[in-house]
Amino acid sequence: MEKEIPSHPHSRKDEQTMTVQFEPIMTVREFAKVIADDLDGTCDTIDSMLEKYERNFEIDELEAELCIEFGLERCQGCDWWMESGLLDGGENDEWEGYCDDCRPEEEEE
Ligand SMILES: [Zn+2]
Repeated sequence: MEKEIPSHPHSRKDEQTMTVQFEPIMTVREFAKVIADDLDGTCDTIDSMLEKYERNFEIDELEAELCIEFGLERCQGCDWWMESGLLDGGENDEWEGYCDDCRPEEEEE
């Protein structure tokens, strides 16, 4: 299945040599890097990022890149993006994927 990458509205021409400078085709990883900054500490969706930058990537792939390459994960409870380390409470963590705010109070023993 061929994906259509929307053409960039600001394709530049090199005035001096009159050769068209092609916009480099962005990889999933490069795009993940761009949106990682945007998403960190927000509850924006990847979907809204794709719209914002007029890109067309697989959300699943971006999610994986964000997590693996940039350590950014979305809390399954409140939908906020945060460092994936913050969503992992260690071994036998039954609330993996949830931030501190979404975890139930720890019971004192
Ligand atoms: Zn949360």
